[in-house]
Amino acid sequence: MESPIETCASAPFNHAKADVILRSADGVEFRVFTLFLSLASPFFETLFGLPQAPDGASDQEMKDGLAVIAMSEDSKTLDLFLRFCYPSTLAEDPSLESLTEVLAVLAAARKYSLDLIERRVCQALANPKVLETEPLRCFAIARNARLKHETIIAARHNLRQPLIPALFAEINLISASDLLALLTYHKKCIIAVKALMKNLQWMTAHYGSINGCGWLFNRPNNYNQYCCGQGTDTRFFPWSTAPLAWWTTYMQEIYELLQDSPSGETVRTAADKTIQKVRSAGCTACSGRVKDAMTEFSNLLALKVEESVAPIELEMDF
Ligand SMILES: [Zn+2]
Repeated sequence: MESPIETCASAPFNHAKADVILRSADGVEFRVFTLFLSLASPFFETLFGLPQAPDGASDQEMKDGLAVIAMSEDSKTLDLFLRFCYPSTLAEDPSLESLTEVLAVLAAARKYSLDLIERRVCQALANPKVLETEPLRCFAIARNARLKHETIIAARHNLRQPLIPALFAEINLISASDLLALLTYHKKCIIAVKALMKNLQWMTAHYGSINGCGWLFNRPNNYNQYCCGQGTDTRFFPWSTAPLAWWTTYMQEIYELLQDSPSGETVRTAADKTIQKVRSAGCTACSGRVKDAMTEFSNLLALKVEESVAPIELEMDF
């Protein structure tokens, strides 16, 4: 069998004075200082502290007078992992760009008892950019790692996704009970938000009166004629009065959407679409003010949605 092509890792893992070589699963050699690894991890401290057999009496692979240790991690994971172990003056902590990297580094951190790295991985999981796009994957990884805070944050972010998720790669990291707990939490949030949509008291309290909400009841010509159609769905009649039709349509849409994705984000995204629709419909009065009006309204409703789900707990033991 041909051995893999051995290549050298980049700085700082190519130092001439390094005292051990770690070889990744894909054949990249990292020349590292045992002192840094020993300080970072009890696992390495023990490994490097083992008495050395006299020369020639061991089957330890040597190269350039240094012991070569075969690692099961690939070079990408090993590189990320070692950068965390080194002092920050020599190697900056890497950013964990993808969740796959997070998972690999977390596994290595646990295997080699590196508590510090585990904490850094937590920070990577709590990155809002990752949470917003892949909350369910964050949930699975955080739950698998028994990271309580990160699991709860991920579950909350997942409310912007549909109740029943599509199949995802990390699903096998969690148990059926974990998934059931997540679905139950999501469902409870849906019920809480539904109550909000059934009673518009939060809205009438905010605007005070119909006069505080003129954009919603615009009748430029005479008392009965709305500028662009009148809503007929009495579920959404603030102050028992018919609003403009496009706002009713918006409320009907988010009523449905919130029964799947009970998140403030759902409300804001739908508001952006309504703003576009109203502008392209061409009503002069509404086009001019729909953006300000709907931004204020959707921010208010989004806040109420967040307030409604905030007390609901993810029921899970850690
Ligand atoms: Zn109008």
